[in-house]
Amino acid sequence: MHRARRAVLTVVAGSLALALAACGQNSEGGSKDSAKGGKGATIGIAMPTKSSERWINDGTNMVKQFQDLGYKTDLQFGEDNVDQQVAQIENMITKGVDVLVVAAIDGRALSDVLQQAADQHIEVISYDRLILGSPHVDYYASFDNEKVGVLQATYIVDKLGLKSGGTKGPFNLELFAGSPDDNNTRYFFQGALKTLKPYLDSKQLVVRSGQTALNQVTTLRWDGATAQKRMDDLLTKAYSTTRVDAVLSPYDGMSIGILSALRSGGYGTAAKPYPVVTGQDAEVASVKSIIAGNQTQTVYKDTRALARQAVQMADAVLHHRAPQVNDTKTYDNEKKVVPSFLLDPVSVDKSNYRSVLVDSGYIKAGDLT
Ligand code: BGC
Repeated sequence: MHRARRAVLTVVAGSLALALAACGQNSEGGSKDSAKGGKGATIGIAMPTKSSERWINDGTNMVKQFQDLGYKTDLQFGEDNVDQQVAQIENMITKGVDVLVVAAIDGRALSDVLQQAADQHIEVISYDRLILGSPHVDYYASFDNEKVGVLQATYIVDKLGLKSGGTKGPFNLELFAGSPDDNNTRYFFQGALKTLKPYLDSKQLVVRSGQTALNQVTTLRWDGATAQKRMDDLLTKAYSTTRVDAVLSPYDGMSIGILSALRSGGYGTAAKPYPVVTGQDAEVASVKSIIAGNQTQTVYKDTRALARQAVQMADAVLHHRAPQVNDTKTYDNEKKVVPSFLLDPVSVDKSNYRSVLVDSGYIKAGDLT
């Protein structure tokens, strides 16, 4: 249908012969609708920012995988600017993409533009971050986001040697969460807090700042400098006479900022070692930091596998097949429960980065030196 609209526009633009030739090229069996399937269709890919390595990898992995199947792609990065991302998606719709794959900057800012997509019968795959408040989200490809938080918090619990019913501690902990406009933030935080709760209740873990509610610990746009500033303030206000033993950080780019603040606060020496600092995404800079003994942990999410899921979903809808999903209950975007494919995140530290990240080809050994 959508391709029919495009053909009509082309005719209006004045070149009947060209339009017919284009139909012939794209058609797999004659009907214009079936021309949507497979070769020639264009996939619009809207990623949030190039400021983080993972999104660049997600984008390039998808482009490669889509092109291998014969699709064309239009990859855009919104640079953490919501209006820019909306304009990029509008532009993709105008240009006539056949499917949209979107990792939203602000999960609630896309309702109008997704209505435009729906009006053009363009299906929408929400990539990694669930788009909220719109009925026009067809599928969702992500990781088990709550488990990400569970892995980070479990790492802290294990590293500090806490165990249920034990008496070790008290240890001082501070909590950071991601961007308040990213739906993943609350899942990461929920998973972490659920895991930490018994130790907070028993006072084996103490948050000296008192900031334990999600709205006190979020970090707009996952910004490393914002996290650094907050860590600076926490050290000044709550740690002038004692040390912080662990910092729950949800994302590598924030962990780097947090570690800078800690370094300025005198941490990172034999007398005052760094606290346990978690992270997410296994970005090269953070894996290097882990090897150097600064950051302690990260959560690896294989962006190649995530790209494969988004590609499999788009390819299926373009062939009028049902995409493969493995979860049809968890992700309610307030308009519908979005059928999802969720992958498994993996905790990584100095002991397993080689086997998990290097042996799998995710990071080249040479990039870590
Ligand atoms: C992703 C994380 C990432 C964060 C910051 C989240 O939506 O799930 O992998 O660390 O955004 O980019």
